Amino acid sequence: MQINEIQLKQVDTQVKRLLDSNHFYGKRLREAGITGVGSVEDFRALPFCEKEDLREAYPLGLSAVPDREIVRIHSSSGTTGTPVIIPYTRRDVDDWAAQFARCYEYAGVTSEDRIQITPGYGLWTAGIGFQAGCELLGAMAIPMGPGNTEKQLQFMIDMQSTVLTATASYALLLAEEIEKRGLRDRIRLRKLITGSERAGEKIRKRIIDALSVEYYDIYGLTEVYGPGIGINCQHGHGMHVWSDYVFLEIIDPDTGEVLPDGERGEIVLTTLVKEGAPLIRFRTHDLSRIIPGDCPCGHNEHPRIDTITGRSDDMMKIHGVNVFPAQIEEILASFPELSSEYQIRLSHLDGRDTMRLYVETNGSVDWEDLRRHVARRIRHRIGFTPLVKIVELGLLPRSEKKTRRVFDERYE
Ligand code: ZN
Repeated sequence: MQINEIQLKQVDTQVKRLLDSNHFYGKRLREAGITGVGSVEDFRALPFCEKEDLREAYPLGLSAVPDREIVRIHSSSGTTGTPVIIPYTRRDVDDWAAQFARCYEYAGVTSEDRIQITPGYGLWTAGIGFQAGCELLGAMAIPMGPGNTEKQLQFMIDMQSTVLTATASYALLLAEEIEKRGLRDRIRLRKLITGSERAGEKIRKRIIDALSVEYYDIYGLTEVYGPGIGINCQHGHGMHVWSDYVFLEIIDPDTGEVLPDGERGEIVLTTLVKEGAPLIRFRTHDLSRIIPGDCPCGHNEHPRIDTITGRSDDMMKIHGVNVFPAQIEEILASFPELSSEYQIRLSHLDGRDTMRLYVETNGSVDWEDLRRHVARRIRHRIGFTPLVKIVELGLLPRSEKKTRRVFDERYE
């Protein structure tokens, strides 16, 4: 997806404002001798920025406006170091709500709906975003915040909530409680909107089965407004990202080269009208691809990204090919004989990179046959042949938290 004329003008305005400020990116532009953006080539020459740059600007170094114009701040979690503070102007707050209201509209939510909001309120951008969009749309907000399952269920029944917004894991927990207590007939939920965490097909299906709701995925990150910059529509597959607020690129995480539509890589975002903290070519480290072609909903001005399949930090490079665990998962899922567990070990043998792939099956199939089929399908889809090792069902380690599945032993 090429940047269009309007977007170029918007980026040019943002770049000029940054050049005039004390912002780190303005300084970087001045050092690179960049004075404006007039063409696609100019845009492509703009440097990327990283979360690390944002951290260094703590506390208010990301602001590109005078203090009196800032009406609110949000902050991304500080679990991995200094938090990032994002200042918002009145317009930023309004724009974010407008984007969120559009998300609801794409999900078919109307002013008749009652939206039970379970993401947290406060410094992070979840609850308040869901709420502002809901109020702008004219639906009824039920601002529960997280936790307290008893009360959530009581309000869901008494208030007859029609839309639930939650993380996938909290939605699953509520779904299981509703099922266990036989409450399905007493609730009126018809839609679920989730965000902020990647949920596998199995979890998704489990929630949909238990609640019989339509399932929507919202996209966003604190650094770029928050959740609400995109959502999947009722027809298609993939999330539309609002091209009047954000320009989307997919790059090769290794080389920084922009990839053609359809190819998987890292999402890079440029804000187009943000005042408080504009970001140019911000590397999200989220992995996805732009879905090529038209969406049946007709909103082709807003490009679609596929489900986020992980972080670029998980990428492996083998024989010059970028490989993501999600690709391997997808292939393994096409074999009903295999469990969903696997383990990848990369090593350097006889001057060559080798991938050993451990998969599990029960004793009832021909292991040699299965081994060959798995290797062939990976070769066909990704372009190299792994050494497939089949092991007894239950042999691979499982963990309640995040199971480590990739071991790179090449440089140890
Ligand atoms: Zn669509």
